[in-house]
Amino acid sequence: MPCRRQFLGYLPLALTGSIAAAATLGSRPARAAAMLGEQEPQALKVGYMADSSRVDPRKYPAHKPSQTCANCQLYQGDEGSAAGGCALFGGKDVAAKGWCSAWEQG
Ligand code: SF4
Repeated sequence: MPCRRQFLGYLPLALTGSIAAAATLGSRPARAAAMLGEQEPQALKVGYMADSSRVDPRKYPAHKPSQTCANCQLYQGDEGSAAGGCALFGGKDVAAKGWCSAWEQG
């Protein structure tokens, strides 16, 4: 579980994403969001991987194979969906089987 300092560090990412999502929703009809790429700067900051099984255990020793976006508290996708929104990355979808270091038990 991220500590308070880590959470505060994620705040700018979440705010930027939320503003982007609001702008997108306000100007276009609803559609599937673009997928977050692993190499995008905001993804690199939190070690996002589109497949939780590929997370490097040396880099993220707290990661457990059972942790995925689908069971993260910040995941906004529908149950059973392959991808969905994330409160951290507003405006982009993440893979349901993905993971990042901001994962929180859902
Ligand atoms: S683990 Fe949680 S915070 Fe990280 S990308 Fe997936 S849904 Fe978002």
